[in-house]
Amino acid sequence: MDFRLSEEHEALRESVRDFAREAVAPVIAEHYERHTFPYEIVRQMGKMGLFGLPFPEEHGGMGGDYFALCLALEELARVDSSVAITLEAAVSLGAMPIFRFGTAEQKARWLPKLLSGEALAGFGLTEPGTGSDAGGTQTRAVLDGDEWVINGSKAFITNSGTDITALVTVTAVTGTNPDGSKELSTIIVPSGTPGFTVAPGYSKVGWNASDTHELTFDDCRVPAGNLLGERGRGFAQFLRILDEGRIAIAALAVGLAQGCVDESLKYAKERQAFGQPIGNYQAIQFKIADMELKAHTARLAYHDAAARMLAGEPFKRQAAIAKLHASTVAVDNAREATQIHGGYGFMNEYPVARFWRDSKILEIGEGTSEVQRMIIARDLGL
Ligand SMILES: Cc1cc2nc3c(=O)[nH]c(=O)nc-3n(C[C@H](O)[C@H](O)[C@H](O)COP(=O)(O)OP(=O)(O)OC[C@H]3O[C@@H](n4cnc5c(N)ncnc54)[C@H](O)[C@@H]3O)c2cc1C
Repeated sequence: MDFRLSEEHEALRESVRDFAREAVAPVIAEHYERHTFPYEIVRQMGKMGLFGLPFPEEHGGMGGDYFALCLALEELARVDSSVAITLEAAVSLGAMPIFRFGTAEQKARWLPKLLSGEALAGFGLTEPGTGSDAGGTQTRAVLDGDEWVINGSKAFITNSGTDITALVTVTAVTGTNPDGSKELSTIIVPSGTPGFTVAPGYSKVGWNASDTHELTFDDCRVPAGNLLGERGRGFAQFLRILDEGRIAIAALAVGLAQGCVDESLKYAKERQAFGQPIGNYQAIQFKIADMELKAHTARLAYHDAAARMLAGEPFKRQAAIAKLHASTVAVDNAREATQIHGGYGFMNEYPVARFWRDSKILEIGEGTSEVQRMIIARDLGL
């Protein structure tokens, strides 16, 4: 058993760490405050090959693996989560369904621009009326001649309304299964298709420099060939995408948790109270020691899930454990980092304020903590 990173993974981690410190940290607070999408950072991440990390070179990817993506997400989130979720959603939710389930033609059309970061794709599963219970999807798609006609709406879709968004994959009811349940399928809807409307961005608690919209489909017509994979496989497809995505979200959460340690350590050495740095007080030392402990154990959990996935072994339970643990740890560390910063921790100019606002969504997106517990319990045979 060897817990050390390979030379390639270590080099990637270092280059993303440098990029986050040098290119993201100086500008992200302003994007966050103004709720603007960081196009220049996305362009630079594209040049670095981050959008193509886990994909083969034949499709324009970097020939790396999913673990490489996770390491990049961890290092980005250590500095900023809006940038990290933009990459996570673009790769694991946006491009991955097309890579995993698309036809040769769909891959040739979409993957080169998605993997270079020139374009982004959204993953349209959640609806205003249903999230955790994705089987409750109401959006419908009916085949009319050689076109799908889509009606319905999607809620909270990341990367769906940027200037460079090329498409959204939409989960829709396309019929009824023999057992009476809904037949779900996934359909590619290119941006700008008539009948596809993107609402203005939400006003969010956190992730303020990331792009999130409600989408409406009103007699929206796309070619029959835009079906992604087999008809009726929509449920199985999004379960697979979300299982993987949970490892990526866990990595992002570990990054945020570690960023809280970084900022707290720095502040504890600088801030004076009662004649000495607050880091001299054991109460503060113990808080930081506990934060480091939590970030470390959450990292081991996502490394374990990623290793199983890459070995082709079952990883559903381990991915849910990693996501549940890492998101809990992120929220805990953000709360403690804010506490260590005292009143300054409540000021938006300090990164820990951003970490605090960005942490809560990690317990909600890509399956709530309750859903993770349901997955773990089910996998244990309950
Ligand atoms: C900023 C942001 C970005 C997002 N990006 C995307 C995206 O790109 N694509 C996408 O498809 N979705 C996206 N989502 C949606 C996200 O995945 C959902 O919000 C999440 O899955 C929860 O669904 P919900 O909001 O409908 O909550 P609900 O499912 O309504 O849950 C409400 C509460 O009930 C609990 N609950 C539900 N069922 C049970 C049960 N059986 N037992 C116990 N408790 C239960 C939940 O855990 C939760 O606490 C995003 C959300 C946000 C906020």
